Amino acid sequence: MKRLFFTLMALSAIALSYAAKPKYVFVFVGDGMGMGHVMAAETYNRTVLGNDENILMMRFPVASLAMTYSADSPVTDSAAAGTALATGFKTKNSMVGMSPDTVAVESVSHELKEKFGYGVGIVTSVCYDDATPATHFAHQANRGMYEEINRDGACSGFDFIAGANTSARNDGEKAGRIFDEYRKNGYTVINGLGSRNELEAGDKILLTAPYEDKAAQIGYTIDSIQGAATLPQLTRLCLGHLMKVSPDKFFMMVEAGNIDHAAHGNDGGAVVKEILNFQEAIQVAYDFYLRHPKETLIVVTADHDTGGMTVGVDKGPSRPVLKNIDYQRISKERFSDVCVAEGGNTWQEMKSLLSEKLGFWSHIPVDEVEEARMLECYGRMKAKAAGTQKTLYKDFNEFTAVVFDILNHKTGLGFTTFSHTGNPVPVFAVGVGCGAFSDLNNNIEIPQKIRKLTGLAD
Ligand SMILES: [Zn+2]
Repeated sequence: MKRLFFTLMALSAIALSYAAKPKYVFVFVGDGMGMGHVMAAETYNRTVLGNDENILMMRFPVASLAMTYSADSPVTDSAAAGTALATGFKTKNSMVGMSPDTVAVESVSHELKEKFGYGVGIVTSVCYDDATPATHFAHQANRGMYEEINRDGACSGFDFIAGANTSARNDGEKAGRIFDEYRKNGYTVINGLGSRNELEAGDKILLTAPYEDKAAQIGYTIDSIQGAATLPQLTRLCLGHLMKVSPDKFFMMVEAGNIDHAAHGNDGGAVVKEILNFQEAIQVAYDFYLRHPKETLIVVTADHDTGGMTVGVDKGPSRPVLKNIDYQRISKERFSDVCVAEGGNTWQEMKSLLSEKLGFWSHIPVDEVEEARMLECYGRMKAKAAGTQKTLYKDFNEFTAVVFDILNHKTGLGFTTFSHTGNPVPVFAVGVGCGAFSDLNNNIEIPQKIRKLTGLAD
């Protein structure tokens, strides 16, 4: 009797361990999404949208942290952090899918495809061959080696790769060679969201959807660009494709790269809107999880913090006013161009633009000191004597820099840098095996844990 009991126990333990293997793995990476960014979106969700429930990722049963330092710096870049999250190995900044001594290291997504035949989908709102997505399929000593990175991508066998563009987009000839390489390897290359026929035709798809020619991203949510692709849309297309070519098992990585772009520019309103948009992409996976709860794992994390964003800022309001974000109808990046093109010839005309695009005066009171500060910089811009605020993705004119500094302060959002920080990032998880992520994670442990859960490692 006792022996039978133990046999049954052993069998149920085995059954459990089999049941505990996720057949569907989703990893969501908010590029640059620190806890301050998430909390800003959550504060907007609670105080402006009036939702009693937290935003979706914060409702997951596991909420933890990950440390992000790279092999050569306390402050990582997206290449080293992407390599850590995709492969489970620390490397030096700028390196893609390689150890510090340039030995190729494999990603979990690649291993799941090679060893277990998983379908693989990689989706991002920035260039698909940018550091974070590239770490899943490429092994190169520098993130800027786009042609080599794409040669690896074309041979990856991944079923669906989607993003805004190739990073080599400014060199037409090189971009052409890159897309040909994918075609040679059996990919259907689609520009835009693709017709049903195009999507149906290809087993392997490379999709690019820049919001305008040569754009490095699919467009900011806050700019509501007509006809532009959105991250939730790309996520749905990827999921649909994987369900067609590999319905039994797949791995999917979705990167919200625009969070990083907005945070590099210290554009608080754009960051919040990008995170809410990211939420909708996560919702696509969460709805899938609800249909396959015993087979699905979803992990949401970030590669690093960008900007050191905080709710609350020196010389800001005692109670942050996130409602101001509702009046912001344009990203800082776009405003920098628009204020030159459409700012008119007088301060009055510029004031109406500030009112229309950012809600100044019409919805957000502006005091004399603030107006004087903007007017003084406006004068220098007109005299072509204004400076430039240089950041990674955009050089802002000084007037835009002053305007958005005032806006962030009035809203109560702070930033410590235009670059990355060494702050830890959040980890949220739900589904099969999610408990594995509940302790403080080093970023390399996230793929290592996925290896164990899927049976790639003991
Ligand atoms: Zn960045």
